[in-house]
Amino acid sequence: MVDCIFCKIVAKEIPSQIVYEDDSIMAFNDINPVAPIHVLVIPKKHILNINYLTEQDEQVIGKIFSTIKTIAAEMGVGDTGFRVVSNSGSDGGQEVDHLHFHLIGGKALGKKIG
Ligand code: 5GP
Ligand code: ZN
Repeated sequence: MVDCIFCKIVAKEIPSQIVYEDDSIMAFNDINPVAPIHVLVIPKKHILNINYLTEQDEQVIGKIFSTIKTIAAEMGVGDTGFRVVSNSGSDGGQEVDHLHFHLIGGKALGKKIG
């Protein structure tokens, strides 16, 4: 078993503010938000990052994006806009080695992405 912060959040060994949960995915507030809305959406299964996805993961990735849409709407930014980011690997700035998608919004984010 890998020593992974997000697997511990999934197992409820580390507390988090859960926004959504089902059998295969979980969404919770980022502990260090960069915007008024900053939610992390993850597969419950430990996948390191996008580079480690397989065909078997296509369904869960689809569910993650449908859920991002739902959460954005529930948080009132579906129409005004938001950003989704997934950092992969060291040059991508990934700090937690469990695949996650940042849903960021609630303010005008500007153009800078890199
Ligand atoms: P990365 O840089 O890997 O894309 O992003 C990791 C994110 O996880 C960061 O935004 C960081 O604030 C968040 N994070 C790290 N540890 C925890 C934690 O224990 N709980 C929560 N809710 N977020 C965390
Ligand atoms: Zn993990």
